[in-house]
Amino acid sequence: MTSVDVAGTAVDTRHYIGGLRVASASTFTNTSPIDGTFLGEIARGGAVEVDLAVEAARNAFPVWSGMPPTERAAILNRIADLVEESVDSLAAVETMDNGALLRSHLRGVMPRVAHNFRFFADWLVNHLDHPDFETRGHVNHVSWDPSGVAGIITPWNAPLMLATWRIAPALAAGDTVVLKPAEWTPLTASLLADITKRAGLPDGAFNVVQGIGREAGAALVAHPGLSRISFTGSVPTAKSIARAAAENLTPCSFELGGKSPFLVLADADLELAAELAIEQYDNAGQVCLSGTRILVHESIEAEFTEAFRRKAAAMRQGDPRDPATDIGPQVHEAHFARVKGFVDRARAEGATIAMGGGPNTELGGLYFSPTLVYDPTPGSEIVTQEVFGPVLTMQTFSTDEEVLALANGTEFGLAAVVVSGDRQHAEAITSRLVAGTIWVNCFFVRDLRAPFGGSKKSGVGREGGTWSFDFYADVKNTVVAPNGWKE
Ligand code: NAD
Repeated sequence: MTSVDVAGTAVDTRHYIGGLRVASASTFTNTSPIDGTFLGEIARGGAVEVDLAVEAARNAFPVWSGMPPTERAAILNRIADLVEESVDSLAAVETMDNGALLRSHLRGVMPRVAHNFRFFADWLVNHLDHPDFETRGHVNHVSWDPSGVAGIITPWNAPLMLATWRIAPALAAGDTVVLKPAEWTPLTASLLADITKRAGLPDGAFNVVQGIGREAGAALVAHPGLSRISFTGSVPTAKSIARAAAENLTPCSFELGGKSPFLVLADADLELAAELAIEQYDNAGQVCLSGTRILVHESIEAEFTEAFRRKAAAMRQGDPRDPATDIGPQVHEAHFARVKGFVDRARAEGATIAMGGGPNTELGGLYFSPTLVYDPTPGSEIVTQEVFGPVLTMQTFSTDEEVLALANGTEFGLAAVVVSGDRQHAEAITSRLVAGTIWVNCFFVRDLRAPFGGSKKSGVGREGGTWSFDFYADVKNTVVAPNGWKE
């Protein structure tokens, strides 16, 4: 079977290489986290398929990179148009595949997929510029040249949004792409391949190799034909990719995990703080940016906790296709077991489970109840390692020094949330937090013009606006002398 029907949409289960569908001898099974429904047998690629895809991308490189930027931008905008026309089907398939809320996919995520293409097309044509400057009469001219083939590897928590956030700037920069999507959520990458074909992207400019990380993923990152590796995922995988990339000195961009702090200062608006804290359960806790460590000033702990509990009690867990649902299932049984293991060990260590703490017994399956771990042992894994499930911890503090030490006290530095009613106090705190993104009295306000990335083990490099082109392109300086001209 080369195609499956998922929520009324036909999805090709084969790779997409050089504009053609390519099968593999073996497959892997894809099921829905909503209820275990079988979704399909997906082509299981390895070194052979990766070689074919990189070769196709290398062959397409002169064609795609040779197009004037306006023509490249026009094709990327056509991809965006087609994504917008397909929002309903993309959203429905993604929800079946990764279990995230259908209403989020419809309203926010799939429109953002289209925006990824429009934004980088526009940036290429209208904003990618550095003013010329002079050195003793010589003119320095900065340009961004296409670099070659970008290998892109992405996770399952927001599959198409995270993939296109990297595919769009790579293509805009004139690179060609080989994507290896996550094996738990392979479907929308295949739909995107169809869309790029319909939009007129030259064959080979975008390729998809489906497969398992240690097989297809490992073969891709070890390939000497890549000019760039873009990886979004976990720290252990990034380390193994960095080792493989070292062999060819392939530049890497890493967007990795987090263990972000959520600071509630004594002067905070507590209703707002509780509202924002509840948002940290978004996507059933499977969000790299979540502020999962609530750090609350001891003087307001009781009041904050009361507001938090009230709002948490109003959350509805259930089928992510139901518009009334706020929190769906975990993506996969292996991930569910991992999340449960963290909570079980925290309980065994003596932490108080103030809310949730295990599987949702009414729903069964992969539904894990929103959980609050109170007063965990300082330094224990539940407050230092990424759980990536609907599990928040709460600790109290009495001084700014103490909260800064707690907030900065992990190996991660992806994001932080600060809730405060005093601008000067908030600024004194944010200036000392180590994080790529800090939200003050808000959460998840995002703009592709802004730099995005992680400090410490949360990542290497920054994306957004020109930062993305700085990575995918070869940045070149041409120095032109005033003399030597036969004019
Ligand atoms: P993961 O590292 O297990 O897998 C990510 C991808 O890497 C998958 O496609 C997988 O197949 C592939 N892979 C696995 N082993 C590989 C190998 N040896 N060589 C090459 N590729 C390999 O991560 P995950 O569990 O899928 O995703 C969750 C992680 O992603 C969390 O840590 C989360 O914080 C992080 N994340 C980060 C961001 C960000 O922008 N910073 C965004 C989303 C998710």
